[in-house]
Amino acid sequence: MSDVTQINSTAAKIAIIGGGIAGASVALYLSELGLDITLLEKGPSLVNGPPICHLHAGGNLYREISEQQCVTLLAQSIDLLRLYPYAADYRPTVVAVPKHDKGTPQQLLPRLYKLQSEYERLIQLDPLNKVLGESQDYFQLFEREELESLALQTPLDKPQTLAQWMIPVAKNVDLDKLQYPLVMVHEFGLNMFRLGASAALSLEANTACQVLTNSAVTKISPTVSGGWLIDYQQAGLNKQEEFDYLINAAGFRSGLIDDLLGFKRPRLVEFKAAYVSKWTDCDAVWPEVVFHGERGTPQGMAQFTPYPGGYFQLHGMTEDITLFKQGLVASTEQSAQPKLAEVFLNKIDKNWTESEIIERTSRAIAHISAYIPSFSNAQVGAKPLFGAQQIPGGDPTLRAANVSFAGDNYARCETVKASSVLTAADVILQQLTKTGLVDKEIKAIRSFPSSERISEQAITLRAEALTKERDFPLSFAHINSAKP
Ligand SMILES: Cc1cc2nc3c(=O)[nH]c(=O)nc-3n(C[C@H](O)[C@H](O)[C@H](O)COP(=O)(O)OP(=O)(O)OC[C@H]3O[C@@H](n4cnc5c(N)ncnc54)[C@H](O)[C@@H]3O)c2cc1C
Repeated sequence: MSDVTQINSTAAKIAIIGGGIAGASVALYLSELGLDITLLEKGPSLVNGPPICHLHAGGNLYREISEQQCVTLLAQSIDLLRLYPYAADYRPTVVAVPKHDKGTPQQLLPRLYKLQSEYERLIQLDPLNKVLGESQDYFQLFEREELESLALQTPLDKPQTLAQWMIPVAKNVDLDKLQYPLVMVHEFGLNMFRLGASAALSLEANTACQVLTNSAVTKISPTVSGGWLIDYQQAGLNKQEEFDYLINAAGFRSGLIDDLLGFKRPRLVEFKAAYVSKWTDCDAVWPEVVFHGERGTPQGMAQFTPYPGGYFQLHGMTEDITLFKQGLVASTEQSAQPKLAEVFLNKIDKNWTESEIIERTSRAIAHISAYIPSFSNAQVGAKPLFGAQQIPGGDPTLRAANVSFAGDNYARCETVKASSVLTAADVILQQLTKTGLVDKEIKAIRSFPSSERISEQAITLRAEALTKERDFPLSFAHINSAKP
């Protein structure tokens, strides 16, 4: 990886469709190399798609995925944290296996030791990779006796050690329902409002990238010189521009771009939702807590994700809460765009009814209260965080994915998790070099001067503006635990 300023001598013009975390980050990466980038986003701001709340630094929320995917997610998350250090909530995650579950905590341990040694290896490769604390502290195990003694302590406003973070868990979780040990791991939260703010401010500081918001791509035609003529509508006006290379980062609507170009591509799209609750009685700073469970059953995994101000985001991996009947759809021979039912598209493009919000949030509160009884008096805190995500191929458990190509001048950015975006940018750069649109001397980067100049305060202010614009509580622009 090169951290030296590199300038591309070719004048190639690159268009990126979609200003989600994938398109915005690839735009940042390529424009940092001096490439001429235009980012077209149909919405009013960047990173405005489905929620992003966990960094997944080790994939410990997904026990069903392979060890290799976990190792990949760890390395990718470290990269992402180096790019967007002020977008993370630096609080740990507790992973608990309930007694009724078929799995055991012991089954989780080999992977945790592997991830710990992998993290140590990444630090040896580059000391700047030490963004998750000391490798020996990557995770800690807690037996019941220790939790019982922690339950007698007072929670701290600024917990420092993993044991201090565990105090509210020990005090409030029904310890009889769990198997031991509990795992606490340095898996941080990721805040999508702060991500959007970080990406937008970094791109605004970078003259090589033109960001066009409120700009929906409607038509794409190949040009005689092998490039693309892109038609888009910007604030009601029809516009047209020619580009040499096209990157499709249109998220769950990527298939529509493939269809415009006549390319086939198997992919899945899944609609999911997380719910926002307000727990007025809460006076402690919590870690994330994940109660494992079999996906799609009434005991599906429960996720309890803290935000400042007593807000908690809730997932319950059952069809009554986070998942939806017919919420997972596949592309066909005729279309690369999986067809979500109208009811889901309405939720995405318009909104939810008040009764649906109350019904599903109440179920989510009940799902979590089975493990944290005092949480049962929590109320609806805001509208849900929801959306559809694409998964390339046909395996719905795939979590670490990046890019595919069709022809010489077209790439699809197909990340399933935000952490994969810099790997995607590396792969696209290799392809651009192969096609001659980028000089061979230009190397992959992990240093982003435009981002490094943005202050934490500027990010907070912009994130606050985004919460207002999107009608979420101001607390959602903030984090409980800042970068150490
Ligand atoms: C409930 C839920 C929880 C999740 N939690 C996490 C999590 O904790 N961590 C994590 O890493 N991931 C999480 N994900 C997945 C994550 O949200 C997505 O994978 C991620 O947002 C994908 O980013 P993207 O940039 O590829 O797509 P998107 O964020 O969907 O961005 C695509 C953009 O393209 C734009 N666009 C589409 N068509 C056009 C067009 N024709 N012209 C112009 N613009 C266009 C859209 O407006 C959109 O802004 C979650 C997903 C869901 C549904």
